[in-house]
Amino acid sequence: MHGVLGGAMDFKAGADFKYRMKQGRDMVKKQLILDSGSRSSKTFKPKKNIPEGSHQYELLKHAEATLGSGNLRTAVMLPEGEDLNEWVAVNTVDFFNQINMLYGTITDFCTEESCPVMSAGPKYEYHWADGTNIKKPIKCSAPKYIDYLMTWVQDQLDDETLFPSKIGVPFPKNFMSVAKTILKRLFRVYAHIYHQHFDPVIQLQEEAHLNTSFKHFIFFVQEFNLIDRRELAPLQELIEKLTSKDR
Ligand SMILES: [Zn+2]
Repeated sequence: MHGVLGGAMDFKAGADFKYRMKQGRDMVKKQLILDSGSRSSKTFKPKKNIPEGSHQYELLKHAEATLGSGNLRTAVMLPEGEDLNEWVAVNTVDFFNQINMLYGTITDFCTEESCPVMSAGPKYEYHWADGTNIKKPIKCSAPKYIDYLMTWVQDQLDDETLFPSKIGVPFPKNFMSVAKTILKRLFRVYAHIYHQHFDPVIQLQEEAHLNTSFKHFIFFVQEFNLIDRRELAPLQELIEKLTSKDR
């Protein structure tokens, strides 16, 4: 299923994009999002939806409402009386959707040529392995790596035994460890965007959006100690900058 990456389709999209550059930023931005949404075979995965009316939907709405209150430290806390697994599940789905959207806006800049390896600055390089289908880490381009990564995350989120959406169905015992692996891997997409594609992010005026999303992500993983400090090293300086004001 990963064999169809790249090729003529991408070249066409790239050329088309250059043409559209002339038509102004906002137009490009909108168009990129639309394009990305329809190119599900590449890196842009369909959004995972939390069904309206469900308890998880209420939790998501709660998360959105408290985020607007301005205090991120309290906004990420487990709401009173709620189940930690469910709170982590809802937020993990939300982060996946956000990262999907953010990476989708710069997907035309992240190519086999621009990013022959998946990196986060000169010091960090990632090789893909999911631990089950691919045990021996593969050295591959960033777009391929991110496609593997997002496909893998999507598969976990769609697995009803891991992320039960029905009321009364319990979360598995290993849920937290799976969630930690998902978040650890999603972090790498932020790290790649920040290190390798920050210029287009600024051009597309997505900087504030990216920072807000990343800051929320970091506050969340810090609150529940979900990602090992070593894994966060590629963005350590930025993390300190984004979080220092709120300590
Ligand atoms: Zn890239």
